[in-house]
Amino acid sequence: MKKLLFFSFLFVSCHNFSQEALTPLQKSEYKKLTTHSELVQFIKEADDRSDLIKAEVLTKSPEGKELYVVYFSKDEFGKDKSKIKVLIFAQQHGDEQSGKEGSLLLINELLKPENQYLFDKIDFALVPQMNPDGSERDERRNGNGMDLNRNHLILTEPEVIGLHKLFNKYLFEVTMDVHEYWPFGESSKKFGYRKNYDETIGAMTNINISEKLRKISYDSYLPFIFNYISKNGYSVFHYLPGGSSGSGYQRYSTFDINDGRQSFGIQNTLSFIQEGLNGENDSTDNIEHRAKGQITGMIGLLKFSYDNKDEIKKLVSAEREKLEENKVDGQVAIQLNHFSDGTELKLELVSYSTGNDTVVTVKDFRSVVKSLYDVERPKGYLIPKSLKTLIDWADRHELKYFDYKKSADDKIEQYFITGIDSIDFEGDMVVNPGLMNTDITNQINQSDYIFIPVNQLRNNMIVIALEPKSQLGLAAYKQFGDLLKSGTNYPILRVAD
Ligand SMILES: [Zn+2]
Repeated sequence: MKKLLFFSFLFVSCHNFSQEALTPLQKSEYKKLTTHSELVQFIKEADDRSDLIKAEVLTKSPEGKELYVVYFSKDEFGKDKSKIKVLIFAQQHGDEQSGKEGSLLLINELLKPENQYLFDKIDFALVPQMNPDGSERDERRNGNGMDLNRNHLILTEPEVIGLHKLFNKYLFEVTMDVHEYWPFGESSKKFGYRKNYDETIGAMTNINISEKLRKISYDSYLPFIFNYISKNGYSVFHYLPGGSSGSGYQRYSTFDINDGRQSFGIQNTLSFIQEGLNGENDSTDNIEHRAKGQITGMIGLLKFSYDNKDEIKKLVSAEREKLEENKVDGQVAIQLNHFSDGTELKLELVSYSTGNDTVVTVKDFRSVVKSLYDVERPKGYLIPKSLKTLIDWADRHELKYFDYKKSADDKIEQYFITGIDSIDFEGDMVVNPGLMNTDITNQINQSDYIFIPVNQLRNNMIVIALEPKSQLGLAAYKQFGDLLKSGTNYPILRVAD
């Protein structure tokens, strides 16, 4: 009897120990999604049970819910400069639950002794849930009704501001944004086939981003991760938004810099997006498989960063230096489009009627991004001190700027807006002003302006944001729509030398 009690005590304590390490989703046997308060509890407990990790509140959502960042480091995070810094953030879209659930499983996975070797070379930061407001309602947008993954340029939402502050603090060399895609819509049903990949992976497409970094992404990372994910039992392919079924034209992805991947990519970061397959009927459908597919891709990214640490660090540092010294070759592309180079795309799809896989050849595959309009890279821009919305924007981005003191060789140019035309970009009408350029070097009162130099990490971003003809610029957003008025001077001035 005594012996039996002893054993049952052992059993209970082991049981408790393993319970402690289960994520809320695992505790529910993969039937119930993790709520925000369960997530907070789990992260705090994980912080308590391991010296490897440290949790911190990053910011709060519009509805007052904390966003957490979980740091994994064998030292003080960011202190050992020989390490590579990797950032993964998930669930910017609240109805894409597997990124969050996968992130919590990832915490347990990385605490296993066999995975801790990764942190000999990596300092890793994980934001498991970017959008707690949306998550609680299983909706895409945050509490302000905003799409966080279109907010990385105007940076108005606290969640996105918090993420960029984190990035600016540590200047991660590698970042990945984790999402889900939903290929079950009416157009797919009509077409008869849909995409069925467990994971899709996208690299950077904006051609202002370092060509060397884009090359390493396509030539090294994608082959590696496709192999790694499929070896682990999940299907994987390129991230190809634009017609979920293969019926319309296909392209790698937008070149806009307002999303999580490209807003860090434009600062010459090795930056990716990973999209898992969402649930067909609701967000808990097949959630175990979906969450485990997501962590497979996340661990793959960490392994790639570990294996290629020195090469990546060297390349990122050299390519960032060019931005910071304003020594980038070539002009800045501010109007772009997707083109086909004749490559046919073989797309594996699943049939709605038979459930069988089939291969569809997509003839209209626009895999190449080209510039339609370039501008010379200036020395910087002058912003009138009276334009508080723009100064606030520069502050949210933590841009370097000064009170303007004119140098002898500064040439100051002003744009006059002769008319406002628009160009049709994939059904979106994009503002395209007609401009007349005037030299006003000797006509301004310099104390009225601040000067934003482009010799900083966000060099390309500043030009793309502030040029009036930029298809991806601030003037394209309603919050900044006042900048462009036909028959007036554009208030932001260009400084060339
Ligand atoms: Zn998404």
